[in-house]
Amino acid sequence: MISRRTILHAGTTAVAATVLGRQHADAKQSNLNVESVAEGVFVSTGVHELNSPSNGGHISNVSFVIGNDAVAVIDTGGSAGVGRGLQAAIRAVTDRPVRYVINTHMHPDHVLGNAPLAAPETVFVGHAKLARALAARADRYLTTSRDSLSAEAFEGTRVIPPSVTVESEKTLDLGGRVLTLKARKTAHTDNDMTVRDEKTGTLFLGDLLFSAHVPTLDGSIRGWLKVLAELKAEPAARVVPGHGPAQMPWPEAMAAEARYLDAITQDVRAMLKDGRTLNDAITSAARSETASWLLFDEFHARNVAAAFAELEWE
Ligand SMILES: [Zn+2]
Repeated sequence: MISRRTILHAGTTAVAATVLGRQHADAKQSNLNVESVAEGVFVSTGVHELNSPSNGGHISNVSFVIGNDAVAVIDTGGSAGVGRGLQAAIRAVTDRPVRYVINTHMHPDHVLGNAPLAAPETVFVGHAKLARALAARADRYLTTSRDSLSAEAFEGTRVIPPSVTVESEKTLDLGGRVLTLKARKTAHTDNDMTVRDEKTGTLFLGDLLFSAHVPTLDGSIRGWLKVLAELKAEPAARVVPGHGPAQMPWPEAMAAEARYLDAITQDVRAMLKDGRTLNDAITSAARSETASWLLFDEFHARNVAAAFAELEWE
């Protein structure tokens, strides 16, 4: 009797799961939610989570800018599923072709949605060091994504390297609208690039700027603080972070991140001076920041470890 009830219950659950699964599938094929932050500038914000079947890899901000002749996409999300949703969102507001897909840096949650946006006229653009960084990590990125997402979101996901690269600075013309791309020195990664929409003064910072989601360090903590100081001197009407709200005021938006990176740097330097170990640093550096960030437990220890390895050699 108990087992029959269990079976009946399991059967009911299976039906409910199928219905939910179908609704979910429909949702995946529709547009991403986008908001307009300035004339012709649209952003879809990702959730502050790790990849999961329910978020489909939409865990970072993806954007597009519409010119008189063409559209440029800035970052594509963490799966082909996100890329398809972005493509649908673009088609809901314009029929102009996507001429450029710009990736702000190598991380999988910013590049793995590239494939659905590829058309004969599409040019993929990134930092001069992006292609090499992607080649070294492509297998791992694809395996991790496949294992953490639904088969449906992962379907069609591939790594597409840039066909046009930026050594220092490059402009792209969308027709009556120019984007200025700047390759930055090693900071969040060794291949960070910013994009400025000159028409509206909107500056897309990729993961040089985190808000709410704890910053993640995969480049150089000293370099990142230097790049933030440079960026502080570059005025913008608004900035779009890689993780955080669709738009933020500049330079106020960088205060929390700079404070976090500074706290790690100062604490780790002091501990190195006192001869303390990596484990000591992981346990106690910048712990005052714990309550200020989401995903702190997931990323803080490795940020400290990376900073320790870098600052040890100063
Ligand atoms: Zn990143």
